[in-house]
Amino acid sequence: MRVIVVGAGILGASTAYHLARAGAEVVVVDAIHQGKATLAGAGIICPWASKLDEPAWLRLSFASARYYPDLAAALAEAGEANNGYRRVGALITADDPAEFDAAEQRILARRGNAPEAGDVRRLANAEARALFPPFRDDLPAIHIEGAARVEARAFSAAMMNVATTNGAIYRNERTSLRLEKDRATCLGADGRPIEGDVVIVTAGAWAPEILGPLGVNLKIAPQKGQILHLGLGGTDTKDWPVLLPMNSYYMLAFDDSRVVVGATRENGSGFDYRVTAGGQKEVLDFALAYAPGLKHATLIETRVGFRPAGPSFLPMLGPVEGVRGLLVGNGLGAGGLTLGPMSGRLLAECALGQKTALDLADYAPRA
Ligand SMILES: Cc1cc2nc3c(=O)[nH]c(=O)nc-3n(C[C@H](O)[C@H](O)[C@H](O)COP(=O)(O)OP(=O)(O)OC[C@H]3O[C@@H](n4cnc5c(N)ncnc54)[C@H](O)[C@@H]3O)c2cc1C
Repeated sequence: MRVIVVGAGILGASTAYHLARAGAEVVVVDAIHQGKATLAGAGIICPWASKLDEPAWLRLSFASARYYPDLAAALAEAGEANNGYRRVGALITADDPAEFDAAEQRILARRGNAPEAGDVRRLANAEARALFPPFRDDLPAIHIEGAARVEARAFSAAMMNVATTNGAIYRNERTSLRLEKDRATCLGADGRPIEGDVVIVTAGAWAPEILGPLGVNLKIAPQKGQILHLGLGGTDTKDWPVLLPMNSYYMLAFDDSRVVVGATRENGSGFDYRVTAGGQKEVLDFALAYAPGLKHATLIETRVGFRPAGPSFLPMLGPVEGVRGLLVGNGLGAGGLTLGPMSGRLLAECALGQKTALDLADYAPRA
């Protein structure tokens, strides 16, 4: 079987990886649009504290977090040990004691279905600061041992490398689709068809543009995120946990003395790729309120990404009714770096006609 994957963010890269490893012929076409979400995303993998209570979302999120270490190990075995995945744990905190208690109850209640969350325990402020030194000095935290962070650029590149080693072809260009006898046909940038039995569109926030000509109106819109990278010159940050204060902001560290603080959630932004004064202020206000120790950090860069946001938090994964040979993966929203690798596996299994690891009925694409 020959499969064309349109878009190689974390979802398309995972889809291509799983297809190629299963022996399918794969062509991946990626335009690398400005604002590609996977290149901007923070990389927190910690779904157990989420306030979202939708069972289908929780099922997929927990399965995704559980799958990550296995996939990272498989990549390492295939020669991609520097894939950016690290289990560093997370600190959950909150200003409001009632909210803090509720978060703890929620995490403990979910742990029964999610042993991958590991040990969960309350830390006094000094214990939390020993793990994340810039943290403010008045709040306690809940430590979740199994939380992780991933450098999504590295992880996606690792999946793509293994896919190409297994025969996948990568084309850096912008494709379009057209309908031929109810079947999706993919055209390269030169307007010539790219031959394939199945087309899988994992085109993130740009998917409506490519699907529109097929009469498929996917309800996906870009949600802009501005995220700041701060440098702590020479500080060893590689084992610092993720910090989640139970609002929409967060921070996490990477190996190179870097702390990443995010992020704005700008609905109705369109594809406005600018770093704005208001965006910088919003994120920095949060950063310095929860980690005053970052006051003297160097502002290295601000990244901008467009999250593919659907009408609900549920991703869309599977075949599109009425168009033969077309599958869609989209709507990963703010949790796509967590959900992406497992979702790509599900799409690959579906395209190959295999039994999927999770029932896809809950994630049917919604026009
Ligand atoms: C600031 C920010 C922080 C985030 N933090 C986290 C986090 O901590 N944890 C988490 O789980 N998630 C996080 N996310 C969410 C996550 O980054 C996204 O959900 C995820 O990256 C979406 O992946 P994707 O593959 O669907 O889309 P994308 O990564 O956007 O990739 C889509 C690709 O399709 C290509 N494409 C589109 N149209 C065409 C075409 N016609 N031809 C060829 N190629 C095409 C594009 O060029 C692009 O490369 C964050 C997102 C942002 C913006």
